[in-house]
Amino acid sequence: ASKKLGKNSFSFFEKSMKDTLNRQSSMEDALKGSLQRNEFHVVYQPKYEMKSNTVVGFEALIRWDNADFIGIGPDDFIPILEQIGLINEVGMFVLDNALKMIKQWRDLTQKPLQVAVNISPVQFTDPLLFQLIQQALTQYDLPGQALEIEITEGVLLEGTKDLKKTLYNMRDADIAIALDDFGTGYASLSYIKDYPINAIKIDRSFVDEINKNKTHTSIVKAVILLAHSLDFHVTAEGIESEEQLDYLKSLQCDIAQGYYLSRPLTADKIIDLLSVYCNSNPC
Ligand code: C2E
Ligand code: MG
Ligand code: MG
Ligand code: MG
Repeated sequence: ASKKLGKNSFSFFEKSMKDTLNRQSSMEDALKGSLQRNEFHVVYQPKYEMKSNTVVGFEALIRWDNADFIGIGPDDFIPILEQIGLINEVGMFVLDNALKMIKQWRDLTQKPLQVAVNISPVQFTDPLLFQLIQQALTQYDLPGQALEIEITEGVLLEGTKDLKKTLYNMRDADIAIALDDFGTGYASLSYIKDYPINAIKIDRSFVDEINKNKTHTSIVKAVILLAHSLDFHVTAEGIESEEQLDYLKSLQCDIAQGYYLSRPLTADKIIDLLSVYCNSNPC
């Protein structure tokens, strides 16, 4: 009997593994033509400056519109795009869209709004990355300050000598560099001080624990204090309540982002948001 059960559970395992592999390969196939079929679009999540309560920028976040893969988000498909060698192309699509939009929004408001674009570690292996970014800024007649690059610790860990050069080139071009998901990995602030990083984004998992878990609440407080003493700006991501916002404000956290303030919105909705904002505080 135990032999039979063993055999059954093996075939069950085999089946679910097959399903996973099939799904992975059909997702790969679907992703291969998705750029050409215009299945990607970019949404923008506003970033608010805490001390003035105003929108100072947006984070560009990619979305995939494919009827066979509804609900599949970038956390699922970005790794596949990296594996199949399409992340550079898709990354440039996001950058182009982000710069086109921020140009319009800056012109509309006459404010120095900034757009943040997530760049995957794989994109940093492209020796042309910096040049492509510069070309795109020139194409839209934008200064470097209009752009912020969000990188994760993975970029620093996998980094070569060229990585430092690329990051310094960006800094010299006035492009801001933020370290995303801070607190989830091993990066310490003293270690990242070796790189030209302007800002850290405290990960949502820490923001989530504010006032729920004493240790995590203390960590958030300590990280903000230390980050400021090292001249990093601090963004808090994933703010979902007034309580979290108030606590972060009391710690002089610089920038706030999260569903409590605004979900990621399509470019059309951002225009609406900016026009309301222009009407209430003359641009
Ligand atoms: P991320 O850069 O850390 O982005 C934050 C994620 O948290 C986004 O998920 C955003 O929609 C979500 N979020 C924002 N506020 C809240 C909140 O209050 N509560 C909750 N529960 N979630 C919130 P999204 O858009 O699914 O993106 C997931 C990740 O995929 C991003 O994490 C980023 O690492 C990656 N990603 C997204 N777009 C791109 C892209 O264009 N290029 C690259 N390389 N990666 C991207
Ligand atoms: Mg990000
Ligand atoms: Mg993040
Ligand atoms: Mg993330």
